[in-house]
Amino acid sequence: MSESGGSTNVYEARPKAHPEAVVVYCGDPRLQTAFEPFIEKELGLHKGQFIPLVVGGGAGVLANPERLPKEFKFMKDRFELIHRAFPSVKRAVLINHEDCIYYRLLAEKIPGFLTDPASKLRDRPGEDLDRIAGVFDRLLSHLGLRAELYYGKFTDADHTKVAFDRALV
Ligand SMILES: [Zn+2]
Repeated sequence: MSESGGSTNVYEARPKAHPEAVVVYCGDPRLQTAFEPFIEKELGLHKGQFIPLVVGGGAGVLANPERLPKEFKFMKDRFELIHRAFPSVKRAVLINHEDCIYYRLLAEKIPGFLTDPASKLRDRPGEDLDRIAGVFDRLLSHLGLRAELYYGKFTDADHTKVAFDRALV
């Protein structure tokens, strides 16, 4: 690296990280200020105690392995790598959220996606939680992770506040 001029900032690392969870959530910038304190306060996971898997769509990426096989494979491979590299990880926290842009894009890409007759059409990311739990159980149970599903929902019309509910699936 460059040796010329300026100070080099140094940041703290954790050489002996012992993560207990992988937390899957969406990269949506509108919600990052909510995800971080939720993970710390409600899930009880401080930085270094969990592996963030931040991807557009969050847990929703796991919902459609048949329709979106590449996206699903990307997630499945990451779970398998994490499991191999960090056997201390026992919890898989899967978070979906309301008004997810990923779902809007999917609706453009896949005709009929949001008008699936099985869906009540109102809140697809929320309705997908059951499906995500089922897929996790079917295709990722060999990793021995305990899945916990949460749904982030805006609590005001201007979308300035979010609450997270645990889904009992
Ligand atoms: Zn999203």
